[in-house]
Amino acid sequence: MPEPVDVVHAKGARTLTITWDDGATSTLPIHYLRGWCPCAGCQGHGSTIRFHDHPEDVGIDFMAESGAYALHIRFTDGHDSGIFTWQWLRTIAPQTPPEGLKRGMFRGGHFVLGTAPIE
Ligand SMILES: [Zn+2]
Repeated sequence: MPEPVDVVHAKGARTLTITWDDGATSTLPIHYLRGWCPCAGCQGHGSTIRFHDHPEDVGIDFMAESGAYALHIRFTDGHDSGIFTWQWLRTIAPQTPPEGLKRGMFRGGHFVLGTAPIE
């Protein structure tokens, strides 16, 4: 599993850019991250994790490494129970094939729900 070598939060652009140790770079819009929050409050206790749409003006209030394996993110809407593991961040990154989880794609920098493959 690739691990990040750099994580940059671009506040103005509302993106998180992760550089991975395999050379890939993933740019994730913050509202996209918020929509993929893996916590039980967002996802319930079912087996399928789903994307939940959120307004595009959501930002990151606070962010810290949680151990050596994850990012703890508090969003500007006050939500702070999401622990985003590196594995999860890589799974939802645009470079990664959908694998049955990521039902949608990036189009012009925005995540669009749909069934088309990610280019
Ligand atoms: Zn959540």
